Amino acid sequence: MKIASRMSRLGTETAYAVSDAAKTYAKETGNKVYPFHLGDMNIRTAENIIEAAHKAMLAGRTGYTSAAGVLELKEALAEDMNRTRGTHYTAENISIQSGGKPVIGKFLMTLMEEGDEVLYPSPGYPIYESMIEFLEGVPKPYRYLETEKGYATDMDYFRSLIGKKTTSLIYNNYQNPMGVTSSDEEMAEIARLAVEHDLMVLADEAYFDIVYDGTGKSITSLPGMEERTVILYTFSKRFAMTGWRLGAAIGPKVVIDQINKINTNDEACTTHFIQLAGIEALKGPQEHQAMILRTLKERLDTILEVLADCPGIKVYRPNATFYLFINVTEALQKMGIKTAEEFRQHMLEKTGVSFTHRQHFGKPLAGETEQYIRFAYSGIDVPEIREGLGRFKEYIKTFFS
Ligand code: PLP
Repeated sequence: MKIASRMSRLGTETAYAVSDAAKTYAKETGNKVYPFHLGDMNIRTAENIIEAAHKAMLAGRTGYTSAAGVLELKEALAEDMNRTRGTHYTAENISIQSGGKPVIGKFLMTLMEEGDEVLYPSPGYPIYESMIEFLEGVPKPYRYLETEKGYATDMDYFRSLIGKKTTSLIYNNYQNPMGVTSSDEEMAEIARLAVEHDLMVLADEAYFDIVYDGTGKSITSLPGMEERTVILYTFSKRFAMTGWRLGAAIGPKVVIDQINKINTNDEACTTHFIQLAGIEALKGPQEHQAMILRTLKERLDTILEVLADCPGIKVYRPNATFYLFINVTEALQKMGIKTAEEFRQHMLEKTGVSFTHRQHFGKPLAGETEQYIRFAYSGIDVPEIREGLGRFKEYIKTFFS
């Protein structure tokens, strides 16, 4: 059978292979696995949201909706965005999607011509690179610097990448996998460059609500940005609804109209009763959200406490997301291990701790010499964190004594 050649340009999320490898290891050895690999959540969706979906189904809300989504949901979302971002959206600016992920491809399909250059973060969410290449754009990965306190965008490098053919920018504040949060200055400079070079911006705000100290800030709140930005919005992390598949593309009406046209040609609409549950998520009681944040923060505190005296690694405290991006260069040197992939396999076998690493988040860039791993703590409880990372630390310590 001949598969269309374009499929060779489509990437994937290799983190799922890590999860499969961990499952196989557990089954074959009977050993316990500590899952720090996937950004899925083991926190339940709030009861009132589940009830709303159930009631909607029983009430017969099981047919198609308009391609753009249920009006009441779009209105509730516009209100929520304007309150949290200071924007001026109405229902016309919103196209409901089956999760946040589809917004990436639909943004590029709508705005990127073949051969256009697109700036995107690397390490970054792997779907950016995959979809740019699939749709025949030219990937222009920007990078990060390691600072005293964590990571920051390498702005000199960022500026150097912008050329005549650069038309779009993907900006993921509250970044996966590094947990990077832009300073106000950094965000302002990125916005200024977008305006100066007339770039369209995809603001991936998947973790806008997973901020521990303070509240989220959107690049759309800066001058000249609302009119050139499409927000990737998702219910996944904010409301612990990853498997429900509910999100939205939010931006200028001219772009959203085109994205609605893609919906019509593709999924037709997002599941009707799931959309109605989304209204309840936005308008119903909000205590559950606070519980989600408290739970994640307790996990973060635990990891940092356990790893505080682990030799050979550099861990920074991020203020957002549920990821830790850890520099393990020294530990690998001591252990005589060359690559992060080798380290991953080794640590799974020796300790049961399963995690992803830099290579799962886009192709490494020229000149990268340090080795990094990512811990996701959205799917593992505090006792398992203590036990698993206790083993991780004790094992590494044996190489330093
Ligand atoms: N963007 C980022 C940075 C993510 O990490 C994810 C999921 O992990 C998504 C987008 C998509 O999430 P969803 O499709 O569940 O909304």
